[in-house]
Amino acid sequence: MDEARLSEYPFLTKAAEYVAGMDSTIDEILISRGYGMARSRAKSRVIQAIKGEIRNEDMGLDIPELLSYPIARILVSCIDDAFLVRRYALAEAKFANSRMGKEDDNILTEIGQDFNINASIAEKGFRIHFTDYIRGAAGMRALKWKLVNRTLESGYVNITKEQYARLLQEAIRVRILKALPLDVPDNFCQAMADDIKEIRTCLEEIKKEFDEEGFGEVEPGDFPPCIVHLLSSAQGGVNLAHSARFALTSFLLNIGLSVDQVVQMFNVSPDFNEEMTHYQVDHIAGSTGTSYKPPSCTTMITYGNCYNKDEICRNIGHPLSYYRKKKKTHQEKLAESAIHESNMPESDKHEGTIHESSTHENSSVKRRDIKNNE
Ligand code: SF4
Repeated sequence: MDEARLSEYPFLTKAAEYVAGMDSTIDEILISRGYGMARSRAKSRVIQAIKGEIRNEDMGLDIPELLSYPIARILVSCIDDAFLVRRYALAEAKFANSRMGKEDDNILTEIGQDFNINASIAEKGFRIHFTDYIRGAAGMRALKWKLVNRTLESGYVNITKEQYARLLQEAIRVRILKALPLDVPDNFCQAMADDIKEIRTCLEEIKKEFDEEGFGEVEPGDFPPCIVHLLSSAQGGVNLAHSARFALTSFLLNIGLSVDQVVQMFNVSPDFNEEMTHYQVDHIAGSTGTSYKPPSCTTMITYGNCYNKDEICRNIGHPLSYYRKKKKTHQEKLAESAIHESNMPESDKHEGTIHESSTHENSSVKRRDIKNNE
């Protein structure tokens, strides 16, 4: 691949070697005004990844774009948040895929070799050895990726260009994910403190959105621990096993989420395919006449989907029972405090306010005392 194009695939070994061979040190790149454009692009790279998609920003220069990748990895490492790492790795891999789909076949073969995936150009796409295929498709859950659903010819699998690019996307995601967080010296993070602050704010906003988004009357705070775990994994971009996806989907549908809300919840998973996910969620919701209940705790335990059991789990046998029980207790407590409040004399209802103002008075007295002592 031409050096001028390395900025399009900055995760390749050749790109890393090119950056390592540059005259400037990493300290200079993180501080010098001459690299401001690269740092700014690095920040937007991470923020766009948090929001779900890294976009092409034509800066007209390859070096800032190329350097923005290692700087972005440093930013992500300084923040050191598992949710961010997963989202960033996925967004970088998808960004690469958006280019690979239109790429020359020889370039795709070269990218594959960097990941030890040996593929040859075939009449209708690519021909890949089944061991490379299994390794590449290991993280993909959709049934079409299972080797049994492929035609094997003398140990080789034929796949389309789009499918080959998708396999490469997964290999890129895993490479980026495994390498992060980097062991970054504190002074590097300090040098980029303002950018880090901005990224953190964006990250917190997105996390909050995930917590609050679209649950209507549903009470996420009353979810059983297994569902909390599966939900945060799915929203953090973890590719859930089929049994876990089924448990999570059927639970959410049964407590009142719509098919669309559940589909959107999966749109950060590495092999998200809206059409396919919609079909599967619709199926579990009962489009064929049979709607499904989530698995019992016994089945959840058998499939390794029971996480972080708590006290309530001791007396229930089903995640839905957990939810009903906790929600009922929650509502009873709310009702009790409402009754308590309505039975109070009017003057006592403002007790909190009176205490608050007296605390302010006390603290102002103390402040004065300190000042006087000075
Ligand atoms: S015991 Fe049941 S409800 Fe509790 S975490 Fe395990 S599967 Fe979920």
